[in-house]
Amino acid sequence: MSILGKYFFGNVDFPENEEYREFQYKFLMVLLAVGVLATVGFIIPTESGAAAIPAEHVRSMTIFTFASIFLFFVLRGRKQLFMPIAWIFEVISLLELSSAMIYVPGDELRILWLFTNIPGAYLLLGRIVGACVSIVIISGLVMGNAYMAAPYSANALATAVISMIYSAAFFHAYARQSIYFYMRMRSSNEKLKFMATRDPLTGMLNARSYYEICEGLIKLAHRNKTPYSVLFVDLDHFKSINDTYGHAAGDVVLKAVADCLANNLRESDVLGRIGGEEFSLFLPNTGFTDALNLAEHIRYSIESIMPDVGESKRKITASIGVAKNEHSEQSMLEIQQQADIAMYRAKAAGRNRVSSLENA
Ligand code: GH3
Ligand code: MG
Ligand code: MG
Repeated sequence: MSILGKYFFGNVDFPENEEYREFQYKFLMVLLAVGVLATVGFIIPTESGAAAIPAEHVRSMTIFTFASIFLFFVLRGRKQLFMPIAWIFEVISLLELSSAMIYVPGDELRILWLFTNIPGAYLLLGRIVGACVSIVIISGLVMGNAYMAAPYSANALATAVISMIYSAAFFHAYARQSIYFYMRMRSSNEKLKFMATRDPLTGMLNARSYYEICEGLIKLAHRNKTPYSVLFVDLDHFKSINDTYGHAAGDVVLKAVADCLANNLRESDVLGRIGGEEFSLFLPNTGFTDALNLAEHIRYSIESIMPDVGESKRKITASIGVAKNEHSEQSMLEIQQQADIAMYRAKAAGRNRVSSLENA
């Protein structure tokens, strides 16, 4: 948002997927401001004698103006208050329009104000409320016409009612289609995002998004001066599972290992599949000893899964490399490389074990 926008709309942040609410929020803020300007534009000339609006309606406009200013400042920067404020605004607008209809018979075109309320209700409060407000306005006009100081002729009334029904129908159709398209776009964006960041087989983060998240966590850890560790898990002789039992059985094993890893993590830990049978775990706020303990626990858990590979259950083992943050400017790439080297040490030492650069 531009500086001017921030000044006017307040400090609000709308994340992706809240684009429609952002539009509604800003639209309401503008409506409140424009409503104030419009009513003040009527009140000032009346007070100075340049225009003749009955005192009752000037009072209504003054109340509406102050209420709108109040609502503007209550809503500014508080997007969570949008719904209640949109409702209050709708109600005070209808009262203000009724006041114009009742107290200003000299203005034959005041009926036009009723039209402006129909799209506003659709855009701010949605289709159902928009339709209800349209019905209230139209039936209020038809029933109240006879009681007005200067009733509209039957022809004028029929024209007004039919054109209001048209307006409501247009906005009804528009709101339905635009919201429907928006929702479809939102859900396909979510699907695309999921597909772009996840590994399809295990559902866990793919390498790119895993590294991206870890870089962010490393920056945070450097700022807070907290330790962190990385575990690199590579399944042992995985190729032989594929060769012996088939690729599908290999996939079953990968999924079982992925579940096992996910079950052994704390909420703050991050897990990614960074290669075919290679997983990396980022452990924020975790020192070296705790990381080694967790690695050993994971090694044991993988060994205990015994996934079904077709005819039989098969013991799966993994070699795990552990790396800890060494210095404050360490990148994710560097620490992952250290975990790689540690993992190869575990392979060289006979597999199914935990290794690090410290305990070599
Ligand atoms: P090591 O103990 O030295 O790690 O031996 P390894 O057989 O586990 O290592 P290698 O890198 O030779 O083989 C990894 C295999 O993982 C090769 C590849 O066919 C298999 N693989 C990679 N991705 C998938 C997958 O998505 N599904 C299945 N079933 N297999 C996969
Ligand atoms: Mg490998
Ligand atoms: Mg392997």
